[in-house]
Amino acid sequence: MDRNDELFASARSVIPGGVNSPVRAYGSVGGTPRFLQSARGAYVTDAEGREYVDLVATWGPALLGHAHPDVVAAVQEAAAKGLSFGAPTEGEVRLASLIAERVQAGGLSPVEEVRLVSTGTEATMTAIRLARGVTGRDLLVKFDGNYHGHSDGLLAAAGSGVATLALPGTAGVPAGVAAETLVVPYGDLDAVREVFAAHGDRIAAIIVEAAPANMGVVEPPAGFNAALADIAHGAGSLLIVDEVLTGFRVHPAGEWGRQVEAGHAYEPDILTFGKVVGGGMPLAALGGRGDVMEHLAPTGPVYQAGTLSGNPLSVAAGIATLERATPEVYAQLNATADRVIADLTGALAAEGVAHAISRVGTLFGFAFLDSKPGDYATAKTQDAFRYGPFFHAMLDGGVHLPPSVYEAWFVMTAHDAAALGRIADALPAAARAAAAATA
Ligand code: PLP
Repeated sequence: MDRNDELFASARSVIPGGVNSPVRAYGSVGGTPRFLQSARGAYVTDAEGREYVDLVATWGPALLGHAHPDVVAAVQEAAAKGLSFGAPTEGEVRLASLIAERVQAGGLSPVEEVRLVSTGTEATMTAIRLARGVTGRDLLVKFDGNYHGHSDGLLAAAGSGVATLALPGTAGVPAGVAAETLVVPYGDLDAVREVFAAHGDRIAAIIVEAAPANMGVVEPPAGFNAALADIAHGAGSLLIVDEVLTGFRVHPAGEWGRQVEAGHAYEPDILTFGKVVGGGMPLAALGGRGDVMEHLAPTGPVYQAGTLSGNPLSVAAGIATLERATPEVYAQLNATADRVIADLTGALAAEGVAHAISRVGTLFGFAFLDSKPGDYATAKTQDAFRYGPFFHAMLDGGVHLPPSVYEAWFVMTAHDAAALGRIADALPAAARAAAAATA
């Protein structure tokens, strides 16, 4: 028994399943979760003192690498002035402005006002309440395999941990709440149009991941989000674009900005942000047009609040991260993604393992399939059994991957030549393990 095993045994006696978020339990890859004691740059260190090159990046936030000295210094400086005030601060104004300034492309500025919250779940939950408050309608359209956090109405046919656990939804959500969410296959505009033909005047909003990354990464069909905006707006509904994972990771202006620059301009009504925007601290946000956002209390009738909303330490980390997320950073992350993808696909191809890489800006993932999946139903047909042996061989080779085949790999600017070299060195054995795996 090593220290990770001991800690997991203790954890399971006081924490359900031994973890505070389900995917961390290694349910789909088997074995004992690594209990991490520290993270710095490109590396995480487990309870045994073993160091791994990390491609989880705390599920996205660590764009600049773990414990970036400037981000840590900003948090320390903020902490010395007080941990939480429960009152407005100058930093909140700065962070909201930074978000609004960045989310601009093609002459469009869809984020005029921003509300800071603490988690991505809160951001999407609030966005939906806001859309319902603005339209006076109840129904929500979401896509199969898109994950938007764990609020009641959003767990219908969600990806991420729900995909990993293969749960159809979740216990504990009243049937009446689930019935307010209409789930359609991702990428299927005809299905969206049908739902609108049947219920258009009752639909408050469509919510969509700007680019899906919780059923594995799925590349959005060209112009898909723009078409959703047209359908929603044609029926007096809103379009909520969830950038919690993609925002400020795939591109300086998020996935919305990347699509606008690619010639598929559209105007979302509400965008949600998380992960990178908090620089590794608990912080998320929703933003949108002023006339929509002003429906939130205290100016409007849609209630939303939070003791820790706009927490000064989180705000400091967010500002320090966004200020350093320059175009050069994204160029470097794209080059890093190129390299890891080339090594990954080279290793799998050498062993004859069918695989398809999907990529959205700096973000990528792969599926054990012959071609890229376009929706959740297809993603689920892959040889998922190959991922556990692949994952454990990578761990043995000193590389920490997401413990699920349905999660993206996250590159960081801290991935230097030594870190990339270790990933390349670990891949051949992992590809052999994947090839030898049996269902
Ligand atoms: N939306 C998307 C697209 C996500 O990927 C996630 C989390 O992974 C969330 C919302 C929920 O964010 P959080 O885990 O901070 O509640």
